Amino acid sequence: MGEFDLIRRFFQRPATPGAGIHAAPGVALGVGDDAALLAPAPGMHLAISSDMLVQGRHFFADVDPAALGHKALAVNLSDMAATGARPLAFTLALALPQADEAWLTAFSAGLFALADAHDCALVGGDTTQGPLNLCITIFGEVPAGQALTRAGARPGDDLWVSGALGDARLALLAMQGHIHLPPAALAAARQRLERPTPRVALGLALRGIATSAIDLSDGLAGDVGHLLHASGAGAVLYAQDAMNLVASWAEPMGLKPLFDDEARLRHVLAGGDDYELLFTAPAAARAAVQAAARASATPITRIGHIDATPGLRLRNAHGQEGPLPPVASFDHFKT
Ligand code: ADP
Ligand code: MG
Repeated sequence: MGEFDLIRRFFQRPATPGAGIHAAPGVALGVGDDAALLAPAPGMHLAISSDMLVQGRHFFADVDPAALGHKALAVNLSDMAATGARPLAFTLALALPQADEAWLTAFSAGLFALADAHDCALVGGDTTQGPLNLCITIFGEVPAGQALTRAGARPGDDLWVSGALGDARLALLAMQGHIHLPPAALAAARQRLERPTPRVALGLALRGIATSAIDLSDGLAGDVGHLLHASGAGAVLYAQDAMNLVASWAEPMGLKPLFDDEARLRHVLAGGDDYELLFTAPAAARAAVQAAARASATPITRIGHIDATPGLRLRNAHGQEGPLPPVASFDHFKT
């Protein structure tokens, strides 16, 4: 199978209504020409984000290819969610060691299942032989002036997070042999590591309500830090509420011994790869935030507030404030 057969068979889809590139809103020309053409609606800004996944760095060599297809797009959709942008289209740059049909079939099925669920069309890319490596660039649209950024948090705002945190880190620790998980718990944690759910509907519902947002890829402590840095503010994190973000399945599954309060807190603060949304909104907008969560069927938790004192502090169950326990947030180039 040559390069062009491969593209045609696995990445170029017929223009069937509902499934094809030409049916997608905002796409004027898709795969097969020298460039794709996007047509964002008038008054819209184009939101653009790229994420690269490298074997050995972001996934294991034996990863389920369908899950890899899902995750490669999911992490990009998550960036659209954090921007409050509606996904339109994406490109896929792919380096493959060989053209393995079974692998490509599963990979493209995982990729397109998630793409179709979000009406996001594959409009182009590049394919080359080489060590397994993939990069997706995604394009979305957001009304000019309404994008959520990291920079809008203000003193007095509440700090909110969607879903549960720490599952992906749990799966990673187990797969690296650092901890042992019962099979059902490992399966649940792996599902969250390998098939994260991008919170696109929540991001859209938070337009005009949230003052800032970021998606959680590097760990809560680190990503809150990015948001505070961009906003020029500080924050107080409620220890008990943050701890409770560890998925509820963990304890029934017999994981309690892993998690005394201190370990549990550090786990939540350090855990990366969750792809939940962290966002701020004025305290006066609590009802609107709750309504956005309900409308998007996304669980959310209030875990702190923004204030003017620089840095991130922790408030314990007795209302005392103190420093965070030291946790390493993810950084590719940190030694
Ligand atoms: P060019 O030589 O102009 O760079 P290519 O020969 O690399 O174009 O690709 C041919 C067409 O196939 C282009 O429209 C390109 O966007 C598309 N394409 C290549 N690889 C992929 C891929 N992995 N997924 C989707 N489209 C792809
Ligand atoms: Mg090319």
